[in-house]
Amino acid sequence: MEPDRSTIWPYEGDGEPGRFYYSRNDHPAGAAAEAELGRLEGGEALLYASGMGAIATTLLAFGGAGATVAVADGAYYGTGKLVRLLADWQLELVEFDQTQAPPEEAQIVIVEAPANPVLTMPDFEALRSHPALVVCDATLATPVYLRALDEGVDVVVHSATKYLTGHHNALLGATVTRDPEKTARLREFRTSAGIPSAPDAAAALLAGLADLEERIRRQTATATDLAGRLEAHPAVERVRYPGFGGVISFDVADARAVETATRLIVNATSLGAVTSTMESRHRWEGDRIPAGLLRLSVGLEEPDEIWADLDQALGRTAHQQNL
Ligand code: PLP
Repeated sequence: MEPDRSTIWPYEGDGEPGRFYYSRNDHPAGAAAEAELGRLEGGEALLYASGMGAIATTLLAFGGAGATVAVADGAYYGTGKLVRLLADWQLELVEFDQTQAPPEEAQIVIVEAPANPVLTMPDFEALRSHPALVVCDATLATPVYLRALDEGVDVVVHSATKYLTGHHNALLGATVTRDPEKTARLREFRTSAGIPSAPDAAAALLAGLADLEERIRRQTATATDLAGRLEAHPAVERVRYPGFGGVISFDVADARAVETATRLIVNATSLGAVTSTMESRHRWEGDRIPAGLLRLSVGLEEPDEIWADLDQALGRTAHQQNL
């Protein structure tokens, strides 16, 4: 169904605004998708123009001048980049190993479950005893594998551009909280800074959530199979796979040669959709990750077809492997 793309709605009969009056504040397609995502996460969801929009709004809402923001090592590089850009606002970035306790001095801790692209998981127990506002980017886990609010996290963040929508057809972000005051503060900054979702993107999310579980469970089965085959491949130096989800990171001698040799797997950025994508992350992240690291996001293609493509790109044909 086409979403309502209006930017205004008439005031109620008494001349007062109703729930919907101006789309920067709230709109029906956004509200419907927020209700469904909130149900899946067990909290109150808000949508934004992008995942970075959700993270920027969280920092605006809770990171006062002088705040120390601890960000997990090997997490999405754009998050650390944004905190670094906010140095002029006196925000200080500290990176830390999220498998251990966060730095004591942090007022905001941002972890990622699992971290993109190094695929470590946060230590939720250590986070529960830290007084900081704890933000968990659960883009890769999705609520199918993790309800981070149940683990004690204050704000769950998603790039809904990825698994939640699932078709590379919408740029979208989300926060989910359980504390009404935090939700109200996020909503106020979202409206005031002008970072709401577009109605079409919100409608794509609602459609995507309907088959999220089916997609990601199948992607997990395929990724588990492929991670095992990659482990056994002589051209592969190291495989990182957390045991769930559709993202595998593996190291080879020449990542550029492998990523440009695939035929089925699209050599492109982003992840979490029904089409498999793979790229060397070094082009974006530089030396914070290994030069040979390839991030593969497994789609819904047949596992044997994905494997045949990987195998030929890695320089061994399926025929040679069977000899
Ligand atoms: N968080 C994670 C884990 C991501 O992978 C990304 C994008 O790749 C983002 C946040 C940013 O999301 P967006 O591109 O929707 O702004």
